Amino acid sequence: MKYYSSKTIFFISIFAIFFTACKNENSSNNQEILIPQENIKVRIPKFDGKAAKEFIAKQVSFGTRVTGSKGHQECKNWLTSQFKSLGAEVIEQNFTTTTFNNVKLNATNIIARFNPNVQERIILSAHYDTRPFAEKDPNPMRQSDPILGADDAGSGVGVLLEIAKLLQRNPIPMGVDIVLFDAEDYGDSENNNPESWGLGSQFWSKNPHLKRKNVKYGILLDMVGAKDAKFYKEGYSINYAKALTNKIWKLASYMKKDDFFINSIGGAITDDHYFVMMKDFKMPMIDIINMPSENFGFGSHWHTHGDNMEVIDIKTLEAVGQVVTAVVYKESNKEFL
Ligand SMILES: [Zn+2]
Repeated sequence: MKYYSSKTIFFISIFAIFFTACKNENSSNNQEILIPQENIKVRIPKFDGKAAKEFIAKQVSFGTRVTGSKGHQECKNWLTSQFKSLGAEVIEQNFTTTTFNNVKLNATNIIARFNPNVQERIILSAHYDTRPFAEKDPNPMRQSDPILGADDAGSGVGVLLEIAKLLQRNPIPMGVDIVLFDAEDYGDSENNNPESWGLGSQFWSKNPHLKRKNVKYGILLDMVGAKDAKFYKEGYSINYAKALTNKIWKLASYMKKDDFFINSIGGAITDDHYFVMMKDFKMPMIDIINMPSENFGFGSHWHTHGDNMEVIDIKTLEAVGQVVTAVVYKESNKEFL
């Protein structure tokens, strides 16, 4: 994805928070999160960062996963079978697309549906393809090689697989669609060419598998696994899905995850949510994406061969995974947005 514009600093209101561990009759790994200001208690399953990391390692074990490559095909098959084994109804949305440099791709968006017959739904999303180039790599000899993409692709998918597992073990009445977009990261990094990115989300936005009126909102995860990640309120998210963005960051603060979820506005990113929100489907969708510093975009491993398992940190996965899990379970309880 591509990075734009600057940041504005906001002041933070800090709220008190209480966590109480609780033994659920059905599952001993549930947390009960008490939010005093809202005067409610919601039982939220505990998100396992170690398991999410294992899901990332499995993707990386297929090697680079550029759309159309062998690693991509193998990873796609594995993802489909994983989601099926976790109780989802899976749609493989096949499409052809042409990249900015005239490569024709056969691509597939993977859609995993939980409670497919329920009308009221939210979407959780990530891209699963990896970048065909390493244009930011310090070694110029290796800049035209594809990257492993542990963080850039692997991490968002890993978190969503773990959430899928929680949905299977702790069912909810609401419908959840996990949408893994393909061909996000085949974009043109040299020219201002936003439409060259997010090819899978552009296709999906024009050809959605469900009706717009049945989806309340979407959450996109991209690069959510690196050590010391910082998630600022991304520019398009705060401008076009303001209430949702502020609610999620406030919840993260209640949950003491504000070392990761920074209460301040970051740059606007042309990522999959941009096409879903601004183009055809026009659904509020926020992007949780690591922007570790104002001056260095997405961190030193971004689009380099340094994006491997060594950058992945369980604490970051747990922060993102636990907050998104809380959103899902609170929303299903009609206690979120
Ligand atoms: Zn990327």
